[in-house]
Amino acid sequence: MSPLFSRGTMEPVRIRRPAGLGLWGILLAVILLSGCALQRPADGAAPVTSPPATIASAHARPTSATPSTTVPAPSAPTPTRTGSATPAACPKPASGFVTHAPGKGKTVALTFDDGPGPADRDYVGILDHYGIHATFFETGAHAKASPDIVRLLASHGELIADHSWSHDYPTQVRGGWSLAYLRDQFRRTNAELAALTGRPVCFVRPPGGFRTDVLAAAPGLRMTAALWSVDSEDWKQPPRTTAAATNRIVANATAADGQAHPIVLMHSTKASHEPESLVSSYRGNTVVALPRVIEWYRSHGYRFVTLDGAA
Ligand SMILES: [Zn+2]
Repeated sequence: MSPLFSRGTMEPVRIRRPAGLGLWGILLAVILLSGCALQRPADGAAPVTSPPATIASAHARPTSATPSTTVPAPSAPTPTRTGSATPAACPKPASGFVTHAPGKGKTVALTFDDGPGPADRDYVGILDHYGIHATFFETGAHAKASPDIVRLLASHGELIADHSWSHDYPTQVRGGWSLAYLRDQFRRTNAELAALTGRPVCFVRPPGGFRTDVLAAAPGLRMTAALWSVDSEDWKQPPRTTAAATNRIVANATAADGQAHPIVLMHSTKASHEPESLVSSYRGNTVVALPRVIEWYRSHGYRFVTLDGAA
């Protein structure tokens, strides 16, 4: 659970019936005299108007005649990152690149770049199955094209982060990356993602892991720049699912070399601009590999976290 994005309690407020007529009378008198604001049923009826329960009915199975009235607490957030009534602001950004997962003990952060993409629907089902969450670095262009997938990920509690708008490397931009260029890329992507999730975007991963001017641009937008420490190299997979390709991804993604806090890089789809023969957009092998990657880290005592420290 993140101290930043506390999902809060979903325990509803129950209005219990008074135990006896004497207490009931006192309660009514208090209401009439003070006009206090008790929790009311959703239909706006008076708080509780039915007579108190008898001893006999107190032991009876509840019926429609003797319900307790349940209303949701007005301020209770939903259990997802998207439902907070008051979006939290990002914490103070780290001064350097983050390359290790947060949290005490052994922690691992699974991260997926370049999405949203079709494989995310499979990823989120697998993450749900294991009861864990991951961080998704999205490009603004892909988010604009597939907003439903961003909403899906956010509604399942995944952390949504920035991966620039157009995923151009420094050599693909006239004059290279500049502070103004990166600010524009990050700011536009943040606006797109925040509009979809209702959450501030607090982490950014530069395309290709290039560092030029990133630490000058990100903190000014209150974002922490994050890289990775374990590379699945799943962008090298062929355009079909094979045992060899899946095994390679599992082996690469679990090559943590004794790290206590690895950040694992995988991909949702492809956002770079190379031809398919050089960089594959196929992710079927990553989908098949993911449960094995999760089970490896779990069996080696790691706790899964998102980059904001949430479990
Ligand atoms: Zn990328």
